[in-house]
Amino acid sequence: MNSSNAFREEVRGWLEDNCPASMRTPMVADEYPGGGRRAQYKNADTKLWMDRCAERGYTVPSWPKEYGGAGLDKDEVVVLQQEMQRINARPALVGMGLSMIGPALLEYGTEAQKQEHLPKIARGDIWWCQGYSEPGSGSDLASLRTSAVEDGDDFIVNGQKIWTSGADNADWMFCLVRTDFDAPKHDGISFVLFDMTTPGITVKPILLISGYSPFCETFFDNVRVPKSNLVHELNKGWTVGKRLLQHERSMIGGIGGGQKTTSIEEYALQYVGKDANGKVADPVLRNQILAHRMSDKAFGLTMRRSVEESATGTAPGAVSSMFKYYGTEQNKGKYELLLNVLGTQSLGWQGDAFEEDELGTTRAWLRSKANSIEGGTSEVQLNILAKRVLGLPD
Ligand SMILES: Cc1cc2nc3c(=O)[nH]c(=O)nc-3n(C[C@H](O)[C@H](O)[C@H](O)COP(=O)(O)OP(=O)(O)OC[C@H]3O[C@@H](n4cnc5c(N)ncnc54)[C@H](O)[C@@H]3O)c2cc1C
Repeated sequence: MNSSNAFREEVRGWLEDNCPASMRTPMVADEYPGGGRRAQYKNADTKLWMDRCAERGYTVPSWPKEYGGAGLDKDEVVVLQQEMQRINARPALVGMGLSMIGPALLEYGTEAQKQEHLPKIARGDIWWCQGYSEPGSGSDLASLRTSAVEDGDDFIVNGQKIWTSGADNADWMFCLVRTDFDAPKHDGISFVLFDMTTPGITVKPILLISGYSPFCETFFDNVRVPKSNLVHELNKGWTVGKRLLQHERSMIGGIGGGQKTTSIEEYALQYVGKDANGKVADPVLRNQILAHRMSDKAFGLTMRRSVEESATGTAPGAVSSMFKYYGTEQNKGKYELLLNVLGTQSLGWQGDAFEEDELGTTRAWLRSKANSIEGGTSEVQLNILAKRVLGLPD
């Protein structure tokens, strides 16, 4: 048995002994394992699974052990993902800590910042939110105007962020602020971290038509942030901010795998029925499903190749825009097909006439529309690809 097979056996055995049965079922909306100081666990297994994985470094398997990871190499991470998918294990922990600020701190944080924040992220102790967008600064993020003025050992932060996902439940924020108003716009930005309980922060959830409030307006009124919470150099925050966006885009685009969900074929066989050969009865739908599956497979292989070619095994630079663009289009396409399959059963919002699963699919279809906006719109990704990957003129 070679070392890769031995590792697979070891992982398989560990998962068998440690992944609770309810964590091998499809994820449900109110059981997402975001962690944080204020987390409440409807299903106790969610926390148990998180703690067991954290103890073994499996919430952040590629991170070094001293920061809470398992120190796995790229091939071992792939084996772990495959074995988790094999038993349909839910992710043990999700969120911006794990997939965005953690990797950015590994690259740009001071040793003290890594020691302070990374183990807490790996354990799911802290829920992070992202203070990037402002009214008037979305796609043109570098035009942001939230200010941070030096005052002794601190910065004093004033201004406003918008669309801050989960800010009302978050423990800490990573935030882009302007520290030089005279420099060209990309050169006057700094990247800071702060505890959301710091005096002067007000969070107002934005009520959406769906009845949910996933985003907030976040206001800063003379918020005192220690200078030790500056990540990287003063006025060089755009470098960190951009890098973090690449991690975010890779995550939204789908790098890293995830839990298997019911396939479109399974739904189609259930809702549309089978022909004499046991295939999906509708030939047009069958072709659409096949085309989608082929694109999915090709996309998966391209992502895998890109991760293998990258030095870190994580964010592949400007190419993350390609994953973000294509991955989100695929995801939207998947939900369009699922709605076709469900037919009139996809028209429900609530009520006994619809199964929970059907209502969930309809809501997920609506949510998929936001994929091509969050983390930078599709148009912005195409601009980046034109400039940074294809080298076309501005
Ligand atoms: C689900 C979700 C979660 C989010 N979470 C967060 C969060 O946690 N923190 C945070 O800071 N922000 C968050 N955002 C905000 C998100 O980053 C912005 O919505 C996004 O960057 C677009 O900015 P905007 O909404 O201001 O649109 P605008 O920039 O006003 O764009 C409007 C339209 O113009 C197009 N456009 C703009 N500029 C160009 C150009 N140069 N070329 C071609 N087309 C262009 C855009 O593609 C878009 O279609 C979230 C958004 C969503 C949908």
